[in-house]
Amino acid sequence: MATERARRPDSFTQAAKENVAARDVCPFCPGHESMTPPEVLAYRAPGTAPNSEGWWIRVVPNLYAAFRLEPDGQEHREDRFWQRDALGACEVLISSPDHRAPTPLLPRLQVEEIVQSYVDRYRHHNENPALEHVLILYNHGRPAGASLEHPHSQLYAIGLEPPSVLEELEGARRFGQSNHECVFCRTLEDERRAGARVVYENEAFVVFAPYAARTPFETWIMPRRHTASFGDLDLKREKPAFAEAIQLTLKAVYDGLNDPPFNYFIHSAPLRTSAAQPYHWHLELIPKLSTAAGFELGTGMWINVVKPEDSAAFLRERINQAVAQPVQSEASG
Ligand SMILES: [Zn+2]
Ligand SMILES: [Zn+2]
Ligand SMILES: [Zn+2]
Repeated sequence: MATERARRPDSFTQAAKENVAARDVCPFCPGHESMTPPEVLAYRAPGTAPNSEGWWIRVVPNLYAAFRLEPDGQEHREDRFWQRDALGACEVLISSPDHRAPTPLLPRLQVEEIVQSYVDRYRHHNENPALEHVLILYNHGRPAGASLEHPHSQLYAIGLEPPSVLEELEGARRFGQSNHECVFCRTLEDERRAGARVVYENEAFVVFAPYAARTPFETWIMPRRHTASFGDLDLKREKPAFAEAIQLTLKAVYDGLNDPPFNYFIHSAPLRTSAAQPYHWHLELIPKLSTAAGFELGTGMWINVVKPEDSAAFLRERINQAVAQPVQSEASG
């Protein structure tokens, strides 16, 4: 429960109602640094002061945090009613000083800086023994849950393991016990051999539509090197390749599907995990082209109206075109 989050500002409504340029009231725009809590990380020009203009990436605590590091994680029990303080940290990672630069259109180098900020904050929270998990996510467009228009990612560092990651981890353990290999590595091998669901691959990452995609155009980006934790991303070799895979995929979705709302999130092993964990971090991208309704909520099953082979072929075609004529698609950032 986080009732104070109901008071979050909503730039979409403001822009629509008052027809003002949203950037006049945007707390994430340069010049408005005092509207956010003090920054915890910024990549900025030499000689510029913290919490002033001159940055190209800026990370601040979420003013409307659902989790806080201050409480001591107390439990309260009353018969069968049990609750615990929401221990953790919520941060906003502002992707660009440019209010109107959607992430799918950012230049490659800026996406690399975004990835670098993900890694820096992941590694920071990894050191805190009170925390169990870090989830990094991006909401694009209001129907996907973004309340401020200025492009930004979010980080949740929390004191418990989310059920969806536990479920994947459990499945990976079961598969590892009977097959003595990583189910994710095996999936990459199988998908690359089959080819039909592969969207793109470079030297370090494979982009593919999962075999049992839950929603139209669900797409995963997975490192080819077996790595349980996102915090172990190789900054020299893997960072540029990851940024490239993200950028090409988001751009293909943006152009090909007319800028749909989407969510992506990075699934990583529990914090301070050993490299031997049978887990393999990955990014899941879910364009919001359909709505989970009574059937999905009532069964936990998904009816998908687009075959993953078809969505993969569509995006693959887009990316092939973009790679063939690279320059014109780059927006200034
Ligand atoms: Zn802004
Ligand atoms: Zn693996
Ligand atoms: Zn996952």
